[in-house]
Amino acid sequence: MSRIAVIGGGVAGLAAAYRLSADHDVVLFEREGTPGGKIRSQSLDGFLFEWGPSGFLSSAQELQALIAEIGLAEALTPAREAAKKRFIFWRGKLHQLPAKPPDALKMTILSPLGKLRALGDLFARKGGGSDDESVYAFMQRHFGREVAERLVAPALLGISGGDAATTSLAAIFPRLRDAENATGSVIRGMMKGPRKACAALRTAECRRSPTGSPNGSATACAPACKCNASNAAASRGASSTTAARRSPTR
Ligand SMILES: Cc1cc2nc3c(=O)[nH]c(=O)nc-3n(C[C@H](O)[C@H](O)[C@H](O)COP(=O)(O)OP(=O)(O)OC[C@H]3O[C@@H](n4cnc5c(N)ncnc54)[C@H](O)[C@@H]3O)c2cc1C
Repeated sequence: MSRIAVIGGGVAGLAAAYRLSADHDVVLFEREGTPGGKIRSQSLDGFLFEWGPSGFLSSAQELQALIAEIGLAEALTPAREAAKKRFIFWRGKLHQLPAKPPDALKMTILSPLGKLRALGDLFARKGGGSDDESVYAFMQRHFGREVAERLVAPALLGISGGDAATTSLAAIFPRLRDAENATGSVIRGMMKGPRKACAALRTAECRRSPTGSPNGSATACAPACKCNASNAAASRGASSTTAARRSPTR
């Protein structure tokens, strides 16, 4: 049994400390007076206010299992149907976000030119953008300034409280980068689905630098592929957080 120090008592540190404590002697250090990090609830005049996160995607199996394990399953509040409708406040008006991709064309928050520019992604070619591009820069490159400024920036603020101009795309939405690497276009890459996009990416990567295979086949090259298991796991995590805003438990 080792002695392990965990620094930080946010949800990540608490979960790590909980898991490690099964086999190790764990000490958790937290700077603030209370644990929880960004997670903080406050009751005031009969209302419950959340300072940070308020929900997660119910399909996040690992999280559901952990919550049940620590006896908090009863404390979850399923999202109401009404929570499926999402709005962005822009220039004095509430604009509803599309529930399905085709509804995007009816969005009132984008100008006709902005919608046309967004469709330009369909014709995007592979390449462009730096390795650690920001969410804003990536979205502007693919869908134009209106989408980046009016949709993506406020959505990211709602998801993580983050600034799209300084948040790394690779860290938070790795699947979008995978989609781009696979086909050049985010829309076409996402339509192929994560598996097909990964296969296309593997094949493209391996054609460029075949390793250990006479014909450079995707299977033989898989370990060198960017779309590896950890990346796929990260993608799942990111999509859970994103979708949490669509279907939170609260
Ligand atoms: C407004 C807002 C809304 C959000 N909504 C959602 C949501 O609905 N769903 C969702 O899934 N996510 C949401 N998020 C994101 C989510 O809150 C974070 O991803 C998550 O809470 C981060 O947890 P963490 O443990 O990594 O970091 P933190 O919660 O930041 O915890 C880090 C902890 O480490 C401590 N610490 C730092 N340095 C030291 C040190 N040197 N010594 C000791 N302790 C230290 C800090 O005091 C803090 O307690 C939201 C975030 C915000 C801001």
